[in-house]
Amino acid sequence: MAENQQRRMGGQPMFILSEDSQRTRGKDAQQSNITAGKAVAESVRTTLGPRGMDKMLVADGEVVITNDGATILDEMEIEHPAADMIVEVAETQEDEVGDGTTTASVLAGRLLAQAEDLLDQDVHPTTIVEGYHEAARIAREAVDDVALDVDVDDDLLRQVAESSMTGKGTGGITAADLAETVVGAIRRVETDGDVDRDAVHVTTQVGASSSATELVEGFVFDEYPANTQMPRSVEDATIAVIDLELGVRTGEIDAEYQLETVDQLNAAMDSEEQELRELVDSLVAAGVDVVFSTEDIDNRVASMLAGEGIIGYEDIDDDDAKAIASATGASRVGTLEDFGEDDLGAAEGVRTDTYGDDDVTFVEGGAAAESVTVFVRGGTAHVVDELERALADALDVTTTAIETGQVVGGAGAAEIAIADHVRSEADGIEGRKQLAVKAFADAVDVIPRTLAENAGWDPIDALVDLRAAHEESGRAGLVAHDGESEVADPIEYGVVDPAAVKKEAVGSATEAATMIVRIDDVIAAS
Ligand code: ADP
Ligand code: MG
Repeated sequence: MAENQQRRMGGQPMFILSEDSQRTRGKDAQQSNITAGKAVAESVRTTLGPRGMDKMLVADGEVVITNDGATILDEMEIEHPAADMIVEVAETQEDEVGDGTTTASVLAGRLLAQAEDLLDQDVHPTTIVEGYHEAARIAREAVDDVALDVDVDDDLLRQVAESSMTGKGTGGITAADLAETVVGAIRRVETDGDVDRDAVHVTTQVGASSSATELVEGFVFDEYPANTQMPRSVEDATIAVIDLELGVRTGEIDAEYQLETVDQLNAAMDSEEQELRELVDSLVAAGVDVVFSTEDIDNRVASMLAGEGIIGYEDIDDDDAKAIASATGASRVGTLEDFGEDDLGAAEGVRTDTYGDDDVTFVEGGAAAESVTVFVRGGTAHVVDELERALADALDVTTTAIETGQVVGGAGAAEIAIADHVRSEADGIEGRKQLAVKAFADAVDVIPRTLAENAGWDPIDALVDLRAAHEESGRAGLVAHDGESEVADPIEYGVVDPAAVKKEAVGSATEAATMIVRIDDVIAAS
Protein backbone atom coordinates (compact mmCIF):
# COMPACT_ATOMS: atom_id res chain seq x y z
CA MET A 1 0.00 0.00 0.00
CA ALA A 2 2.72 2.45 1.01
CA GLU A 3 4.33 1.84 -2.34
CA ASN A 4 1.27 3.33 -4.00
CA GLN A 5 1.46 6.47 -2.04
CA GLN A 6 4.90 7.59 -2.95
CA ARG A 7 6.50 9.02 -6.01
CA ARG A 8 10.20 9.02 -6.48
CA MET A 9 11.94 12.30 -7.15
CA GLY A 10 15.65 12.25 -7.74
CA GLY A 11 15.86 8.95 -5.91
CA GLN A 12 14.14 10.40 -2.85
CA PRO A 13 10.68 9.02 -2.05
CA MET A 14 8.08 11.75 -1.98
CA PHE A 15 4.83 11.19 -0.10
CA ILE A 16 1.80 12.83 -1.65
CA LEU A 17 -0.88 11.31 0.56
CA SER A 18 -1.17 11.37 4.30
CA GLU A 19 0.20 8.27 5.94
CA ASP A 20 -3.15 7.03 7.20
CA SER A 21 -5.06 7.30 3.96
CA GLN A 22 -6.29 4.04 2.52
CA ARG A 23 -5.93 3.38 -1.12
CA THR A 24 -7.43 0.59 -3.19
CA ARG A 25 -6.81 0.38 -6.90
CA GLY A 26 -7.66 -1.49 -10.05
CA LYS A 27 -9.57 -4.75 -9.86
CA ASP A 28 -9.73 -4.62 -6.07
CA ALA A 29 -11.40 -1.24 -6.10
CA GLN A 30 -13.90 -2.29 -8.76
CA GLN A 31 -14.58 -5.53 -6.98
CA SER A 32 -15.33 -3.97 -3.62
CA ASN A 33 -17.50 -1.20 -5.05
CA ILE A 34 -19.50 -3.60 -7.16
CA THR A 35 -19.97 -5.99 -4.28
CA ALA A 36 -21.22 -3.19 -2.03
CA GLY A 37 -23.60 -1.85 -4.67
CA LYS A 38 -24.97 -5.29 -5.42
CA ALA A 39 -25.49 -6.05 -1.74
CA VAL A 40 -27.58 -2.94 -1.21
CA ALA A 41 -29.73 -3.60 -4.26
CA GLU A 42 -30.16 -7.20 -3.18
CA SER A 43 -31.50 -6.07 0.18
CA VAL A 44 -34.68 -4.60 -1.31
CA ARG A 45 -35.30 -7.29 -3.91
CA THR A 46 -37.76 -9.30 -1.83
CA THR A 47 -40.06 -6.29 -1.44
CA LEU A 48 -40.70 -5.87 -5.18
CA GLY A 49 -44.20 -6.21 -6.54
CA PRO A 50 -47.60 -7.23 -5.23
CA ARG A 51 -46.20 -10.33 -3.53
CA GLY A 52 -43.23 -8.48 -2.09
CA MET A 53 -42.70 -8.73 1.64
CA ASP A 54 -42.21 -5.87 4.08
CA LYS A 55 -39.17 -5.00 6.12
CA MET A 56 -39.00 -4.01 9.73
CA LEU A 57 -36.22 -1.54 10.42
CA VAL A 58 -35.20 -0.92 13.98
CA ALA A 59 -32.93 1.93 14.98
CA ASP A 60 -32.63 3.69 18.34
CA GLY A 61 -35.82 2.05 19.50
CA GLU A 62 -37.72 3.46 16.51
CA VAL A 63 -39.44 0.86 14.39
CA VAL A 64 -40.38 1.37 10.75
CA ILE A 65 -42.31 -1.29 8.87
CA THR A 66 -42.36 -0.69 5.15
CA ASN A 67 -42.38 -2.10 1.66
CA ASP A 68 -41.13 1.12 0.13
CA GLY A 69 -37.69 0.82 -1.48
CA ALA A 70 -36.66 4.42 -0.96
CA THR A 71 -37.68 4.34 2.70
CA ILE A 72 -35.82 1.09 3.39
CA LEU A 73 -32.62 2.32 1.79
CA ASP A 74 -32.92 5.61 3.59
CA GLU A 75 -33.46 3.97 6.99
CA MET A 76 -30.52 1.60 6.51
CA GLU A 77 -28.01 4.42 7.03
CA ILE A 78 -25.55 3.07 4.53
CA GLU A 79 -21.98 4.26 4.79
CA HIS A 80 -20.13 2.61 1.94
CA PRO A 81 -19.74 5.29 -0.75
CA ALA A 82 -20.50 2.99 -3.70
CA ALA A 83 -23.46 1.45 -1.89
CA ASP A 84 -24.66 4.95 -1.20
CA MET A 85 -24.92 5.57 -4.94
CA ILE A 86 -27.64 2.91 -5.08
CA VAL A 87 -29.45 4.77 -2.31
CA GLU A 88 -29.19 7.88 -4.46
CA VAL A 89 -30.77 5.99 -7.35
CA ALA A 90 -33.81 5.40 -5.19
CA GLU A 91 -33.84 9.02 -4.05
CA THR A 92 -33.63 10.36 -7.59
CA GLN A 93 -36.39 8.04 -8.68
CA GLU A 94 -38.56 9.15 -5.76
CA ASP A 95 -37.95 12.83 -6.50
CA GLU A 96 -38.47 12.61 -10.23
CA VAL A 97 -41.48 10.33 -10.56
CA GLY A 98 -42.44 9.22 -7.06
CA ASP A 99 -42.48 5.47 -7.69
CA GLY A 100 -40.36 2.64 -9.03
CA THR A 101 -37.66 3.03 -6.39
CA THR A 102 -37.26 -0.69 -5.82
CA THR A 103 -37.26 -1.36 -9.55
CA ALA A 104 -34.53 1.21 -10.11
CA SER A 105 -32.26 -0.03 -7.34
CA VAL A 106 -32.72 -3.71 -8.19
CA LEU A 107 -31.90 -2.92 -11.81
CA ALA A 108 -28.81 -0.96 -10.80
CA GLY A 109 -27.61 -3.92 -8.74
CA ARG A 110 -28.12 -6.31 -11.63
CA LEU A 111 -26.30 -3.98 -14.03
CA LEU A 112 -23.36 -4.09 -11.64
CA ALA A 113 -23.44 -7.89 -11.46
CA GLN A 114 -23.41 -8.10 -15.26
CA ALA A 115 -20.58 -5.59 -15.41
CA GLU A 116 -18.60 -7.76 -13.03
CA ASP A 117 -18.90 -10.69 -15.45
CA LEU A 118 -17.80 -8.48 -18.34
CA LEU A 119 -14.79 -7.23 -16.40
CA ASP A 120 -13.86 -10.86 -15.74
CA GLN A 121 -13.95 -11.41 -19.49
CA ASP A 122 -11.56 -8.48 -19.81
CA VAL A 123 -14.03 -6.11 -21.37
CA HIS A 124 -12.73 -2.64 -20.66
CA PRO A 125 -14.75 -0.50 -18.22
CA THR A 126 -15.22 2.28 -20.77
CA THR A 127 -16.60 -0.23 -23.27
CA ILE A 128 -19.08 -1.36 -20.62
CA VAL A 129 -20.02 2.23 -19.88
CA GLU A 130 -20.55 3.04 -23.56
CA GLY A 131 -22.52 -0.15 -24.12
CA TYR A 132 -24.75 0.53 -21.13
CA HIS A 133 -25.47 4.08 -22.25
CA GLU A 134 -26.31 2.89 -25.73
CA ALA A 135 -28.53 0.16 -24.30
CA ALA A 136 -30.29 2.63 -22.00
CA ARG A 137 -31.11 4.78 -25.02
CA ILE A 138 -32.55 1.76 -26.82
CA ALA A 139 -34.46 0.80 -23.68
CA ARG A 140 -36.12 4.20 -23.44
CA GLU A 141 -37.03 3.89 -27.10
CA ALA A 142 -38.61 0.52 -26.30
CA VAL A 143 -40.69 2.12 -23.55
CA ASP A 144 -42.01 4.65 -26.07
CA ASP A 145 -42.81 1.80 -28.45
CA VAL A 146 -44.89 -0.12 -25.94
CA ALA A 147 -46.48 2.92 -24.31
CA LEU A 148 -50.20 3.10 -24.81
CA ASP A 149 -51.39 6.47 -25.93
CA VAL A 150 -54.73 6.17 -24.30
CA ASP A 151 -57.16 8.62 -22.88
CA VAL A 152 -56.00 9.36 -19.39
CA ASP A 153 -59.48 9.04 -17.92
CA ASP A 154 -60.42 8.42 -14.31
CA ASP A 155 -60.61 4.67 -14.84
CA LEU A 156 -57.06 4.52 -16.08
CA LEU A 157 -55.82 6.83 -13.35
CA ARG A 158 -57.41 4.64 -10.71
CA GLN A 159 -55.58 1.67 -12.21
CA VAL A 160 -52.27 3.52 -12.17
CA ALA A 161 -52.81 4.55 -8.56
CA GLU A 162 -53.88 1.07 -7.51
CA SER A 163 -50.95 -0.62 -9.27
CA SER A 164 -48.55 1.62 -7.39
CA MET A 165 -50.07 0.59 -4.07
CA THR A 166 -50.45 -3.16 -4.50
CA GLY A 167 -48.19 -4.99 -2.13
CA LYS A 168 -48.24 -2.20 0.43
CA GLY A 169 -49.80 -2.89 3.79
CA THR A 170 -52.85 -0.65 3.71
CA GLY A 171 -54.67 -2.07 6.74
CA GLY A 172 -58.42 -2.44 6.40
CA ILE A 173 -58.90 -0.23 3.35
CA THR A 174 -58.59 -1.72 -0.12
CA ALA A 175 -56.15 -0.33 -2.66
CA ALA A 176 -59.16 0.24 -4.93
CA ASP A 177 -60.84 2.54 -2.38
CA LEU A 178 -57.59 4.38 -1.79
CA ALA A 179 -57.09 4.76 -5.53
CA GLU A 180 -60.54 6.34 -5.75
CA THR A 181 -59.56 8.87 -3.08
CA VAL A 182 -56.23 9.58 -4.77
CA VAL A 183 -57.79 10.25 -8.17
CA GLY A 184 -60.50 12.39 -6.55
CA ALA A 185 -57.81 14.45 -4.84
CA ILE A 186 -55.65 14.93 -7.93
CA ARG A 187 -58.60 15.84 -10.14
CA ARG A 188 -59.56 18.62 -7.72
CA VAL A 189 -56.25 20.36 -8.19
CA GLU A 190 -55.85 19.71 -11.90
CA THR A 191 -56.49 22.26 -14.63
CA ASP A 192 -56.13 21.10 -18.24
CA GLY A 193 -53.52 18.47 -17.57
CA ASP A 194 -51.57 20.59 -15.10
CA VAL A 195 -51.57 19.23 -11.58
CA ASP A 196 -50.86 21.45 -8.60
CA ARG A 197 -49.41 18.55 -6.64
CA ASP A 198 -48.48 20.77 -3.69
CA ALA A 199 -52.13 21.54 -3.11
CA VAL A 200 -52.77 17.94 -2.13
CA HIS A 201 -51.90 17.27 1.48
CA VAL A 202 -51.83 14.11 3.51
CA THR A 203 -52.57 14.25 7.23
CA THR A 204 -52.58 11.23 9.48
CA GLN A 205 -54.51 10.49 12.63
CA VAL A 206 -54.15 7.22 14.49
CA GLY A 207 -57.34 5.86 15.95
CA ALA A 208 -60.03 4.60 13.67
CA SER A 209 -59.74 1.83 11.11
CA SER A 210 -57.99 2.73 7.88
CA SER A 211 -61.33 2.43 6.09
CA ALA A 212 -62.27 5.74 7.74
CA THR A 213 -59.66 7.45 5.55
CA GLU A 214 -61.37 10.27 3.70
CA LEU A 215 -60.84 13.11 1.31
CA VAL A 216 -61.35 16.55 2.84
CA GLU A 217 -61.93 19.57 0.63
CA GLY A 218 -59.48 21.79 2.34
CA PHE A 219 -56.62 21.72 4.74
CA VAL A 220 -56.27 19.64 7.89
CA PHE A 221 -53.73 20.10 10.65
CA ASP A 222 -53.39 19.18 14.29
CA GLU A 223 -53.97 22.34 16.26
CA TYR A 224 -56.61 23.57 18.68
CA PRO A 225 -57.99 26.99 19.70
CA ALA A 226 -55.78 28.96 22.06
CA ASN A 227 -58.59 29.39 24.58
CA THR A 228 -61.21 26.88 25.65
CA GLN A 229 -63.93 29.57 25.57
CA MET A 230 -63.42 30.13 21.86
CA PRO A 231 -65.94 28.65 19.44
CA ARG A 232 -64.96 25.24 18.00
CA SER A 233 -66.38 25.95 14.59
CA VAL A 234 -67.47 28.77 12.35
CA GLU A 235 -69.03 28.88 8.92
CA ASP A 236 -68.30 31.41 6.15
CA ALA A 237 -65.17 32.30 7.97
CA THR A 238 -63.13 35.44 7.39
CA ILE A 239 -59.55 34.49 8.00
CA ALA A 240 -56.36 36.26 9.01
CA VAL A 241 -52.96 34.58 8.87
CA ILE A 242 -50.39 36.46 10.87
CA ASP A 243 -46.72 36.12 11.73
CA LEU A 244 -46.95 38.32 14.75
CA GLU A 245 -47.08 37.74 18.46
CA LEU A 246 -50.40 38.88 19.77
CA GLY A 247 -49.28 40.34 23.06
CA VAL A 248 -47.67 43.35 24.59
CA ARG A 249 -45.06 44.79 22.34
CA THR A 250 -41.64 44.16 23.82
CA GLY A 251 -38.85 46.34 22.60
CA GLU A 252 -35.35 45.22 21.81
CA ILE A 253 -34.33 46.17 25.32
CA ASP A 254 -36.12 44.72 28.31
CA ALA A 255 -37.64 47.75 29.93
CA GLU A 256 -38.02 47.79 33.66
CA TYR A 257 -40.31 50.26 35.35
CA GLN A 258 -39.85 51.59 38.77
CA LEU A 259 -43.36 51.58 40.16
CA GLU A 260 -43.94 53.32 43.43
CA THR A 261 -47.63 53.48 44.02
CA VAL A 262 -50.59 51.24 43.41
CA ASP A 263 -51.95 53.89 41.07
CA GLN A 264 -48.85 53.70 38.95
CA LEU A 265 -49.15 49.94 38.80
CA ASN A 266 -52.77 50.18 37.77
CA ALA A 267 -51.91 52.76 35.17
CA ALA A 268 -49.21 50.52 33.72
CA MET A 269 -51.55 47.57 33.62
CA ASP A 270 -54.26 49.66 32.07
CA SER A 271 -51.95 50.79 29.34
CA GLU A 272 -50.94 47.21 28.59
CA GLU A 273 -54.57 46.18 28.64
CA GLN A 274 -55.27 49.09 26.32
CA GLU A 275 -52.60 47.98 23.89
CA LEU A 276 -53.94 44.42 23.81
CA ARG A 277 -57.49 45.67 23.43
CA GLU A 278 -56.41 47.67 20.38
CA LEU A 279 -54.94 44.56 18.78
CA VAL A 280 -58.19 42.70 19.28
CA ASP A 281 -60.25 45.69 18.11
CA SER A 282 -58.33 45.88 14.88
CA LEU A 283 -59.21 42.23 14.20
CA VAL A 284 -62.84 42.80 15.15
CA ALA A 285 -63.02 45.89 12.96
CA ALA A 286 -61.71 43.91 10.00
CA GLY A 287 -64.45 41.34 10.55
CA VAL A 288 -62.06 38.47 11.29
CA ASP A 289 -63.65 35.23 12.48
CA VAL A 290 -60.51 33.13 12.72
CA VAL A 291 -56.92 34.15 13.24
CA PHE A 292 -54.04 31.76 12.58
CA SER A 293 -50.75 32.89 14.06
CA THR A 294 -47.32 31.37 13.67
CA GLU A 295 -46.45 33.13 16.93
CA ASP A 296 -47.83 33.21 20.46
CA ILE A 297 -51.20 34.58 21.44
CA ASP A 298 -51.09 36.16 24.90
CA ASN A 299 -53.59 34.60 27.33
CA ARG A 300 -55.32 37.93 27.85
CA VAL A 301 -55.64 38.43 24.10
CA ALA A 302 -56.95 34.89 23.74
CA SER A 303 -59.69 35.53 26.26
CA MET A 304 -60.58 38.87 24.64
CA LEU A 305 -60.78 37.09 21.28
CA ALA A 306 -62.98 34.42 22.85
CA GLY A 307 -65.21 37.18 24.19
CA GLU A 308 -65.61 38.49 20.65
CA GLY A 309 -66.39 35.02 19.34
CA ILE A 310 -63.13 34.91 17.35
CA ILE A 311 -61.14 31.67 17.16
CA GLY A 312 -57.39 31.99 17.46
CA TYR A 313 -54.81 29.31 16.73
CA GLU A 314 -51.32 30.00 17.96
CA ASP A 315 -47.82 28.69 17.19
CA ILE A 316 -48.88 26.99 14.00
CA ASP A 317 -46.21 25.59 11.70
CA ASP A 318 -44.89 27.76 8.93
CA ASP A 319 -45.93 25.15 6.32
CA ASP A 320 -49.45 25.07 7.71
CA ALA A 321 -49.66 28.86 7.63
CA LYS A 322 -48.49 28.82 4.03
CA ALA A 323 -51.07 26.24 3.01
CA ILE A 324 -53.90 28.06 4.79
CA ALA A 325 -52.90 31.38 3.26
CA SER A 326 -52.80 29.99 -0.25
CA ALA A 327 -56.08 28.09 0.07
CA THR A 328 -58.03 30.94 1.66
CA GLY A 329 -56.39 33.84 -0.17
CA ALA A 330 -55.16 35.48 3.01
CA SER A 331 -51.83 37.25 2.89
CA ARG A 332 -49.50 36.65 5.77
CA VAL A 333 -48.97 39.82 7.71
CA GLY A 334 -46.31 40.72 10.20
CA THR A 335 -48.00 43.79 11.63
CA LEU A 336 -51.56 44.89 12.27
CA GLU A 337 -50.80 48.53 11.59
CA ASP A 338 -52.07 48.81 8.06
CA PHE A 339 -53.99 45.59 8.26
CA GLY A 340 -56.92 45.68 5.89
CA GLU A 341 -59.51 43.81 3.95
CA ASP A 342 -57.10 42.72 1.19
CA ASP A 343 -55.09 40.81 3.72
CA LEU A 344 -58.01 38.60 4.66
CA GLY A 345 -58.92 35.21 3.32
CA ALA A 346 -62.11 33.22 3.43
CA ALA A 347 -63.24 29.64 3.83
CA GLU A 348 -66.59 27.88 3.94
CA GLY A 349 -65.83 26.59 7.36
CA VAL A 350 -63.24 26.17 10.07
CA ARG A 351 -63.73 23.62 12.82
CA THR A 352 -61.78 21.70 15.39
CA ASP A 353 -62.75 18.12 16.13
CA THR A 354 -61.47 15.87 18.86
CA TYR A 355 -60.04 12.44 18.10
CA GLY A 356 -59.22 10.64 21.31
CA ASP A 357 -56.61 12.83 22.98
CA ASP A 358 -55.91 14.84 19.86
CA ASP A 359 -57.51 17.88 18.31
CA VAL A 360 -57.61 18.26 14.57
CA THR A 361 -58.57 21.43 12.75
CA PHE A 362 -60.22 21.51 9.33
CA VAL A 363 -60.15 24.57 7.09
CA GLU A 364 -62.63 23.65 4.42
CA GLY A 365 -63.62 25.23 1.14
CA GLY A 366 -60.91 27.89 0.90
CA ALA A 367 -61.99 30.75 -1.36
CA ALA A 368 -58.76 31.27 -3.27
CA ALA A 369 -57.51 27.92 -4.48
CA GLU A 370 -58.46 24.30 -4.52
CA SER A 371 -56.65 22.46 -1.84
CA VAL A 372 -57.48 19.00 -0.62
CA THR A 373 -56.29 16.73 2.12
CA VAL A 374 -56.33 13.00 2.35
CA PHE A 375 -57.14 12.49 6.00
CA VAL A 376 -55.55 9.14 6.76
CA ARG A 377 -56.88 7.02 9.59
CA GLY A 378 -55.51 3.73 10.82
CA GLY A 379 -55.42 1.56 13.90
CA THR A 380 -51.74 1.97 14.66
CA ALA A 381 -48.95 4.40 13.88
CA HIS A 382 -47.29 1.79 11.66
CA VAL A 383 -50.40 1.41 9.56
CA VAL A 384 -50.90 5.14 9.06
CA ASP A 385 -47.21 5.69 8.30
CA GLU A 386 -47.14 3.03 5.61
CA LEU A 387 -50.47 4.30 4.25
CA GLU A 388 -49.01 7.77 4.07
CA ARG A 389 -46.05 6.48 2.04
CA ALA A 390 -48.28 4.43 -0.25
CA LEU A 391 -50.48 7.49 -0.81
CA ALA A 392 -47.50 9.69 -1.58
CA ASP A 393 -46.43 7.22 -4.30
CA ALA A 394 -49.95 6.95 -5.68
CA LEU A 395 -50.47 10.73 -5.74
CA ASP A 396 -47.15 11.14 -7.55
CA VAL A 397 -47.73 8.46 -10.19
CA THR A 398 -51.22 9.74 -10.86
CA THR A 399 -49.75 13.20 -11.40
CA THR A 400 -47.05 11.74 -13.66
CA ALA A 401 -49.64 9.82 -15.67
CA ILE A 402 -51.77 12.93 -16.22
CA GLU A 403 -48.83 15.14 -17.10
CA THR A 404 -47.13 12.72 -19.48
CA GLY A 405 -50.20 10.92 -20.82
CA GLN A 406 -48.24 7.72 -21.35
CA VAL A 407 -48.64 4.40 -19.56
CA VAL A 408 -47.23 0.91 -20.04
CA GLY A 409 -48.28 -2.56 -18.99
CA GLY A 410 -46.93 -3.44 -15.54
CA ALA A 411 -46.25 -6.79 -13.89
CA GLY A 412 -42.96 -7.13 -15.77
CA ALA A 413 -44.49 -6.73 -19.24
CA ALA A 414 -42.68 -3.49 -19.97
CA GLU A 415 -39.37 -5.00 -18.87
CA ILE A 416 -39.84 -8.11 -21.04
CA ALA A 417 -40.45 -5.81 -23.99
CA ILE A 418 -37.44 -3.63 -23.11
CA ALA A 419 -35.10 -6.62 -22.74
CA ASP A 420 -36.23 -8.15 -26.04
CA HIS A 421 -35.87 -4.90 -27.93
CA VAL A 422 -32.41 -4.20 -26.52
CA ARG A 423 -31.30 -7.77 -27.22
CA SER A 424 -32.39 -7.64 -30.84
CA GLU A 425 -30.83 -4.20 -31.41
CA ALA A 426 -27.58 -5.51 -29.94
CA ASP A 427 -27.04 -7.64 -33.04
CA GLY A 428 -26.38 -4.52 -35.06
CA ILE A 429 -23.71 -3.25 -32.69
CA GLU A 430 -20.07 -3.95 -33.48
CA GLY A 431 -17.33 -5.32 -31.29
CA ARG A 432 -17.21 -5.80 -27.58
CA LYS A 433 -19.76 -3.09 -26.99
CA GLN A 434 -22.27 -5.62 -28.21
CA LEU A 435 -21.46 -7.78 -25.20
CA ALA A 436 -22.28 -4.88 -22.90
CA VAL A 437 -25.57 -4.14 -24.65
CA LYS A 438 -26.58 -7.80 -24.39
CA ALA A 439 -25.56 -7.85 -20.75
CA PHE A 440 -27.83 -4.86 -20.20
CA ALA A 441 -30.75 -6.73 -21.74
CA ASP A 442 -30.09 -9.68 -19.44
CA ALA A 443 -29.98 -7.32 -16.48
CA VAL A 444 -33.45 -5.96 -17.25
CA ASP A 445 -34.80 -9.51 -16.91
CA VAL A 446 -34.18 -9.17 -13.19
CA ILE A 447 -37.50 -7.35 -12.78
CA PRO A 448 -39.86 -10.04 -14.15
CA ARG A 449 -37.60 -12.67 -12.59
CA THR A 450 -37.89 -11.06 -9.17
CA LEU A 451 -41.65 -10.62 -9.50
CA ALA A 452 -41.81 -14.36 -10.25
CA GLU A 453 -39.57 -15.31 -7.34
CA ASN A 454 -41.55 -13.17 -4.93
CA ALA A 455 -44.75 -14.83 -6.16
CA GLY A 456 -43.24 -18.22 -5.44
CA TRP A 457 -42.73 -19.19 -9.09
CA ASP A 458 -39.73 -20.89 -10.54
CA PRO A 459 -37.97 -17.87 -12.10
CA ILE A 460 -36.64 -19.72 -15.14
CA ASP A 461 -39.97 -21.30 -16.04
CA ALA A 462 -41.69 -17.97 -15.49
CA LEU A 463 -39.34 -16.14 -17.86
CA VAL A 464 -39.78 -18.81 -20.54
CA ASP A 465 -43.58 -18.56 -20.23
CA LEU A 466 -43.50 -14.76 -20.24
CA ARG A 467 -41.29 -14.66 -23.36
CA ALA A 468 -43.54 -17.12 -25.19
CA ALA A 469 -46.66 -15.14 -24.31
CA HIS A 470 -44.92 -11.88 -25.23
CA GLU A 471 -43.97 -13.29 -28.67
CA GLU A 472 -47.53 -14.33 -29.22
CA SER A 473 -49.50 -11.32 -28.06
CA GLY A 474 -46.91 -8.57 -27.74
CA ARG A 475 -47.65 -8.00 -24.06
CA ALA A 476 -47.33 -10.36 -21.14
CA GLY A 477 -46.75 -9.95 -17.45
CA LEU A 478 -46.97 -12.03 -14.33
CA VAL A 479 -50.22 -10.62 -13.08
CA ALA A 480 -51.31 -11.07 -9.49
CA HIS A 481 -55.06 -11.01 -9.00
CA ASP A 482 -57.55 -12.62 -6.66
CA GLY A 483 -54.78 -14.19 -4.63
CA GLU A 484 -53.08 -15.88 -7.59
CA SER A 485 -50.52 -15.04 -10.22
CA GLU A 486 -50.73 -15.87 -13.89
CA VAL A 487 -49.08 -14.98 -17.14
CA ALA A 488 -51.53 -12.58 -18.74
CA ASP A 489 -51.96 -9.21 -20.40
CA PRO A 490 -51.56 -6.77 -17.48
CA ILE A 491 -53.68 -4.15 -19.20
CA GLU A 492 -56.66 -6.48 -19.06
CA TYR A 493 -56.27 -6.60 -15.31
CA GLY A 494 -55.63 -2.90 -14.93
CA VAL A 495 -51.97 -3.31 -13.96
CA VAL A 496 -50.43 -0.19 -15.47
CA ASP A 497 -47.47 2.01 -14.65
CA PRO A 498 -46.62 5.44 -16.06
CA ALA A 499 -44.07 5.12 -18.87
CA ALA A 500 -42.05 7.84 -17.15
CA VAL A 501 -41.46 5.55 -14.15
CA LYS A 502 -39.83 2.94 -16.39
CA LYS A 503 -37.75 5.45 -18.30
CA GLU A 504 -36.53 7.09 -15.14
CA ALA A 505 -35.66 3.70 -13.61
CA VAL A 506 -33.59 2.75 -16.65
CA GLY A 507 -31.87 6.14 -16.67
CA SER A 508 -31.04 6.41 -12.98
CA ALA A 509 -29.94 2.77 -12.66
CA THR A 510 -27.65 3.09 -15.67
CA GLU A 511 -26.15 6.28 -14.35
CA ALA A 512 -25.29 4.79 -10.97
CA ALA A 513 -23.97 1.52 -12.37
CA THR A 514 -21.73 3.19 -14.94
CA MET A 515 -20.45 5.62 -12.38
CA ILE A 516 -19.42 2.76 -10.12
CA VAL A 517 -17.86 0.73 -12.95
CA ARG A 518 -15.72 3.65 -14.03
CA ILE A 519 -13.97 3.90 -10.67
CA ASP A 520 -10.66 2.08 -10.40
CA ASP A 521 -9.00 3.98 -7.62
CA VAL A 522 -10.40 4.63 -4.18
CA ILE A 523 -8.48 6.96 -1.94
CA ALA A 524 -9.92 7.29 1.50
CA ALA A 525 -8.47 9.89 3.81
CA SER A 526 -8.82 8.88 7.41
P1 ADP B 1 -41.31 -0.09 -6.92
O1 ADP B 1 -40.65 0.52 -5.73
O2 ADP B 1 -40.32 -0.36 -7.99
O3 ADP B 1 -42.49 0.67 -7.38
P2 ADP B 1 -43.19 -2.07 -6.06
O4 ADP B 1 -42.99 -3.01 -4.92
O5 ADP B 1 -44.17 -0.99 -5.91
O6 ADP B 1 -41.77 -1.52 -6.43
O7 ADP B 1 -43.55 -2.95 -7.31
C1 ADP B 1 -43.77 -2.40 -8.57
C2 ADP B 1 -43.98 -3.46 -9.59
O8 ADP B 1 -45.12 -4.26 -9.29
C3 ADP B 1 -44.23 -2.85 -10.96
O9 ADP B 1 -43.47 -3.53 -11.90
C4 ADP B 1 -45.73 -3.08 -11.15
O10 ADP B 1 -46.08 -3.20 -12.52
C5 ADP B 1 -45.91 -4.38 -10.44
N1 ADP B 1 -47.31 -4.65 -10.08
C6 ADP B 1 -48.22 -3.83 -9.54
N2 ADP B 1 -49.42 -4.46 -9.39
C7 ADP B 1 -49.26 -5.70 -9.88
C8 ADP B 1 -50.11 -6.86 -10.03
N3 ADP B 1 -51.39 -6.83 -9.65
N4 ADP B 1 -49.58 -7.97 -10.57
C9 ADP B 1 -48.28 -8.01 -10.94
N5 ADP B 1 -47.44 -7.00 -10.83
C10 ADP B 1 -47.91 -5.85 -10.31
MG1 MG C 1 -44.23 1.04 -6.29
